[in-house]
Amino acid sequence: MFNYNHSHTEIREAVSKLCEGFDGKYWQRCDAERAYPTEFVKALTDAGYLSALVPEEFGGLSLPISAGAAILEEIHRSGGNAAACHAQMYTMGTVLRHGSDVQKAKFLPGIAEGSLRLQAFGVTEPTSGTDTTALRTVARRDGNEYVVNGQKVWTSRAEHSDLMLLLARTTPLEECVKKTDGLSVFLVDMRDVRGKSLTITPIRTMMNHSSTQLFFDDMRIPADSLVGEEGKGFRYILSGMNAERILIAAECIGDAKWFIEKASVYAGERSVFGRPIGKNQGVQFPIANAYSQMRAAELMLQEAIRLFETGENPGEEANLSKLLCADASWAAAEICVQTFGGFGFAEEYDVERKFREARLYQVAPISTNLILSYIAEHVLKLPRSY
Ligand SMILES: Cc1cc2nc3c(=O)[nH]c(=O)nc-3n(C[C@H](O)[C@H](O)[C@H](O)COP(=O)(O)OP(=O)(O)OC[C@H]3O[C@@H](n4cnc5c(N)ncnc54)[C@H](O)[C@@H]3O)c2cc1C
Repeated sequence: MFNYNHSHTEIREAVSKLCEGFDGKYWQRCDAERAYPTEFVKALTDAGYLSALVPEEFGGLSLPISAGAAILEEIHRSGGNAAACHAQMYTMGTVLRHGSDVQKAKFLPGIAEGSLRLQAFGVTEPTSGTDTTALRTVARRDGNEYVVNGQKVWTSRAEHSDLMLLLARTTPLEECVKKTDGLSVFLVDMRDVRGKSLTITPIRTMMNHSSTQLFFDDMRIPADSLVGEEGKGFRYILSGMNAERILIAAECIGDAKWFIEKASVYAGERSVFGRPIGKNQGVQFPIANAYSQMRAAELMLQEAIRLFETGENPGEEANLSKLLCADASWAAAEICVQTFGGFGFAEEYDVERKFREARLYQVAPISTNLILSYIAEHVLKLPRSY
């Protein structure tokens, strides 16, 4: 199924083959135990896929974002989940674009070879939520160090990462001309502070996501952890958003394909009233509808990727891709459960697990409402709503 034209066919086939070693039973076990899929992430790392976007000079594959998208899509299309490791692909851009030569030389080769993990991205806080500029974590300069105090929530994979990209306020809000000023990005080596001034506590969620809360208690980090210039962190984080939207949208397309294929095969095999349920238009039309929705969303994603790779800043297309692809995967998830009937709820079919996993993308890494706000304000020029 889905054998229409594709970019990066060889990568897709190789990733798909790698994923065959991690079947539904593997993901069911990780899910039941809320365990990190260590073996899967190791296999991906060993094959070089997690360093796809790292430049060759630092030991990576120097591949374009379309290759990253193909890798993540195939993982999800095979029934797996890339959330255990996808952040490395999109946080990398911030370090590449704004990090110093020293930071790149120090960290990127290790990240590329897999001895160092950059999987944690600390932006969201319990009180500020979507209103990022209202965050309260503070980094105060003290000689050759910064002293960090505050709290983050939903920092995924912090327990399975060596490094974290952290957004903190370095100038009090009341001293800033704009609320987007005075925020800074730090590349924190968590190995130095974990269990001391950095406390990490897991959050158990409806799906297996290794998410955590972080508490910074006079956490001292070297001053050269600062990425780029002090006070410009919000802009740096924003500059990585298009890549993040594109890569997450690719995962959603992978999920949608998985649900549609599962539903189609099951509808052809399951016999009720002496004939396959898929003979009923009430069963086949919703699946066909989900397929058409997925194909349309995928075209928008391909357009976002095309523009991104020509060096443009496709804010509209990247946001639309995230919106449409997340909607397509959620619609396909719903139809898949419906097609499976009662068996859609049984763990052994993986449908209920994928259903829980697909729901996340309506909320994170950015919620549907905030994308609609972006489109309303920046594309349609409607008044800013918040
Ligand atoms: C499993 C998981 C993993 C995550 N991983 C990370 C991570 O690694 N790093 C990280 O920094 N964050 C992470 N997040 C956080 C995620 O980015 C946020 O949950 C998301 O951006 C929504 O923010 P919030 O939860 O604070 O919701 P809130 O900001 O409290 O919003 C709640 C609801 O209100 C809506 N809303 C709020 N303001 C408006 C408005 N002005 N107009 C219309 N609607 C509005 C939102 O759309 C949302 O539906 C993760 C979240 C989850 C659940």
